[in-house]
Amino acid sequence: MGNNNQYLYDELENSFSSWEGAKARIGDKWGYVDGTGNVVVPLKYNRVYIRCDDIIEVRKIVEGKQFRGLYDLRRGFMLPCVYKKIEIKGRDDEEILECECWKHDHYVPVVVKVDSKKIVNKTIDIRMASNDELVEYLSDCFEDDEELYESVKKYPERVSLLDQQCPCGGHVIRMYYRSSEDSWQNLAGRAGWLTICTKCRRQYGFLCTLMN
Ligand SMILES: [Zn+2]
Repeated sequence: MGNNNQYLYDELENSFSSWEGAKARIGDKWGYVDGTGNVVVPLKYNRVYIRCDDIIEVRKIVEGKQFRGLYDLRRGFMLPCVYKKIEIKGRDDEEILECECWKHDHYVPVVVKVDSKKIVNKTIDIRMASNDELVEYLSDCFEDDEELYESVKKYPERVSLLDQQCPCGGHVIRMYYRSSEDSWQNLAGRAGWLTICTKCRRQYGFLCTLMN
């Protein structure tokens, strides 16, 4: 860092190996500056820290509540500082980052896609989602459960989001469920309307309409 910076900031803390820059503080507010002294994350946050690689989580405390946002140091701003919680779900490669956020009191899945030129920020509020988006969302939720996954894929027009939230914070949905082909061959097949939480999988009801 140039000497000039020593006088601009109250504190500089270099914690990177791959990126030339530093965490900087003026008064009680933090941000990041790059190796040439350009501000990459404005110095207006109560806390800033590295989440992974070049991703910085920023936190603002307003009336005792913490709000979180994300910056990509190389590409700039990614998520505004309005979220309760940001989970970085998976990173397929350098270019794609998926997040899940809590905003206010409801669950908002957010997918942030970054290509080499620009940031594509797609936010889906599942309560406002179209049927296609809901089906896509549920397919992700149920990836680990073959019967639920197959049922959503087989009867996409029969899924709906209920105006009810599970104590776990998850969404409660109604869907048409059909047990596995094996179960039908073993004369233990079941099909019907299932009400279930997408997160903890608590069953709120099952109306069996077909069995063998
Ligand atoms: Zn639940």
